[in-house]
Amino acid sequence: MFTASKSYLEKFFSGCAYRAFLYRRWNLKKEFMSKPMRFGIAVHGAIETSLRTKKDVMELEWDPVEVDVLDRAQRAVNWLQKNGYEVIATEVEHIAPLSKTIQLYGIIDCIAKAPSGEIVLIDWKTSKNLWAPLKLEGGEIVYVGAQGWQGPIYLTPPYESAILEEWPKKMLYVVIPEGETVEAYSYHKTDADDRALLRACELVRVAEEDGNFPKNTGTFTCNSCDFKQVCWQTIGWQKYYDARNKHAKKEEEGDEE
Ligand code: SF4
Repeated sequence: MFTASKSYLEKFFSGCAYRAFLYRRWNLKKEFMSKPMRFGIAVHGAIETSLRTKKDVMELEWDPVEVDVLDRAQRAVNWLQKNGYEVIATEVEHIAPLSKTIQLYGIIDCIAKAPSGEIVLIDWKTSKNLWAPLKLEGGEIVYVGAQGWQGPIYLTPPYESAILEEWPKKMLYVVIPEGETVEAYSYHKTDADDRALLRACELVRVAEEDGNFPKNTGTFTCNSCDFKQVCWQTIGWQKYYDARNKHAKKEEEGDEE
């Protein structure tokens, strides 16, 4: 069974498919990640800890204390409370069937119940600004940030759920911007989205079967690539990464993730 995730698909279609190959094998160590990436991980961690322990963000023992991280996390938790959401679960591992040969994988930040009783999946996004609307010819307004593969992946019902009897149909991308008010952007998946996801997964599945992940060694793709050190085998490249043990273990079993 081939397992696809948002990150795996995004790496494959990022301008250099070889990134996807390396992503399955190597984890960039936190100290070498970009500042925005480290910041986003820290904010997610603070929100999750606050919701799980039911402690106020500012009461968390955080080392080192980063005021910006705590501020963003606090605003996310405040948003949930202000809008009356009841948290059902956080950091939920999601494994869902897409086709006979493909399954989907992800970690859902939060599952919550709205005051209306509707259950929604929530994904936290740290961003400098709120998302800009895109106005279509027919007058419809869309937010491109809410239209990616993440939504259809998470909204595909899992094989089984110990938490919910019926899988939610709505996802909320909750953007926590630098200085503006927190805003939620909703997403409902469509058949067209599912077809696009299936086609994308099929391409990656075939690439994996054939071992076909072409490199694009252009400066544009390489300069910002997290896998530059291992790809180019720079001096001491090993210090930048941890091997993905999970992948290695599963590889032995002849399966993915
Ligand atoms: S360093 Fe360049 S060639 Fe290597 S994986 Fe990254 S983008 Fe591709």
